[in-house]
Amino acid sequence: MTKLTIVPCPQCKQDVEWSDKSPYRPFCSKQCQMIDFGEWADEENSIAGAPDMSDSDGWSEDNY
Ligand SMILES: [Zn+2]
Repeated sequence: MTKLTIVPCPQCKQDVEWSDKSPYRPFCSKQCQMIDFGEWADEENSIAGAPDMSDSDGWSEDNY
């Protein structure tokens, strides 16, 4: 008897069967996997863009 493991998708909290039936586990679908990947890319982008933000911050402080 095979015990079925169900995990919640980190993106949409949908039940995901932990087996070969779910190639994108722990995500329920490729879409959710891509969303998660996109969030990671976003974080990297905001880190890269951080100097830019502090730059404009200093500018507005100067202007204040
Ligand atoms: Zn999902």
